[in-house]
Amino acid sequence: MTATEKPTTFDSLDPRTGDVVASYPVHTADDIAFVVARAREAADWWVELGFDGRKEQLTRWKGVITRRIHQLAQIVHDETGKPHGDALLEASLGIDHLAYAASHAKKVLGPKRVSPGLLMANQAATVRYHPLGVVGVIGPWNYPVFTPMGSIAYALAAGNAVVFKPSEYTPGVGAWLASTFEEAVGRPVLQVVTGLGPTGAALCTSGVDKIAFTGSTATGKRVMAACAETLTPVVIEAGGKDAFLVDADADLDAAADAAAWGSFANAGQTCVGVERIYVHRDVYDPFLAKLVAKAEALTAYDADDAQIGPITMPSQLNIIRRHIEDAIARGGRAVLGGPDAVGERWVQPTVLVDVPEDSVAVTEETFGPTVTVAKVASMDEAVELANATRYGLAATVFSKRRGVELADRIRSGMAAVNGIITFAGVPGLPFGGVGESGFGRIHGPDGLREFTYAKSITRQRIKPLLALTSFTRTEAAEKQLAQIMTLLHGRGTTIGPK
Ligand code: NAD
Repeated sequence: MTATEKPTTFDSLDPRTGDVVASYPVHTADDIAFVVARAREAADWWVELGFDGRKEQLTRWKGVITRRIHQLAQIVHDETGKPHGDALLEASLGIDHLAYAASHAKKVLGPKRVSPGLLMANQAATVRYHPLGVVGVIGPWNYPVFTPMGSIAYALAAGNAVVFKPSEYTPGVGAWLASTFEEAVGRPVLQVVTGLGPTGAALCTSGVDKIAFTGSTATGKRVMAACAETLTPVVIEAGGKDAFLVDADADLDAAADAAAWGSFANAGQTCVGVERIYVHRDVYDPFLAKLVAKAEALTAYDADDAQIGPITMPSQLNIIRRHIEDAIARGGRAVLGGPDAVGERWVQPTVLVDVPEDSVAVTEETFGPTVTVAKVASMDEAVELANATRYGLAATVFSKRRGVELADRIRSGMAAVNGIITFAGVPGLPFGGVGESGFGRIHGPDGLREFTYAKSITRQRIKPLLALTSFTRTEAAEKQLAQIMTLLHGRGTTIGPK
């Protein structure tokens, strides 16, 4: 290969060793054009199947995935390094979403009657949700099954064909999903293209009918810019800097347990992971002691039974180190871990306190097993600090009396009260963020509708009493219209002098 030639393959690596797991093709814009054209043909067949037919096919696929769940978990483990049990959990959640999407599409997207209102009382009004055609799904590596399945399953159930571009760190997971789909369904309704950023960029401008992107905020902005060229709609599921609030009346053992899981599971590489903790001053010391005790019991190391795996993307190690160093340089303290916790592939749990709120450890997504803990004088202050971010993905509140009230005041797409990340496991709940965490919703009925367009149809049932939309409209009809409007809307607050 000469310096100007582009590589035609790339390797997926085992993050624990750096060894090559497998090689995959770098798909080009031409390859993608071919795949999208195939998807369009397959989409016609898929649409013809109707909700019941698609449900049958998706259920068959679900069966294949479920029966081979350990095989899938093994590939996730090999490509991300995450513990096998965690891989199994994310695959299970992904399957649950597939089941939900397949079985709820008809009810959510089928024709629905809508009240025609008084002026159009002679009309039967219905809305139905049509598939968009071909949806491009671009996925991250941190939850390579669960995350893209939140788009793939819902887009498919809604009647679309899907072209999936998995992360370059987890191409094997994507290839496995597409090959099991092919085996179960036998048509290219779900296809995979592999490659690095430029392959994702080419998918954005390939003429697909929507892009469902999950990844970092920076890439999300590039995806939006590329999609703007062709006015391709997008759903953006991006990064976060989620806060965890501990009220004075919280169950501190449960809160510390949840905070440890939220901060350190998957080595902190979770979009809805806990990155900032705000604790009421009355319980700050005992909570911190409990959290540190939990974290001390965890070690990230290279063994199949380790609870914390490696950092999947080596370049992230520098970001994690920089955040810890900035926190400490600006007056923060590491009560556990610290800069030395960042190794060549593993990062040990790190708990930071007294970190200024404008340190990058508080303002930027760290995406590592680190967390800042801050003392607050009141829960109002905790809410204020939680909201002082450009992100807005999710949040957690531990409180006996005020949990839901506080959760509702946090500007985020999701929140868990007295639990951790539980919203992601409820298939009927929408998933997504606000601000720089993105927009649009996957999962639940909103997630199904995200991959459709609404089609409104009116049908005349009887002749209109007042001919309003005709040049035969009379003055009498106009008078009657004014009377009806006064009757309907003329009462209530008056503006100006009575
Ligand atoms: P990333 O942005 O680096 O990559 C995501 C995907 O985009 C990859 O498939 C990549 O190849 C592709 N890509 C890169 N450049 C592109 C371009 N110019 N055009 C189109 N596609 C391009 O993200 P990552 O490192 O894979 O994932 C980690 C990030 O994802 C974190 O920020 C995390 O918070 C976020 N995330 C968000 C959610 C959510 O639901 N909100 C879920 C999981 C992860």
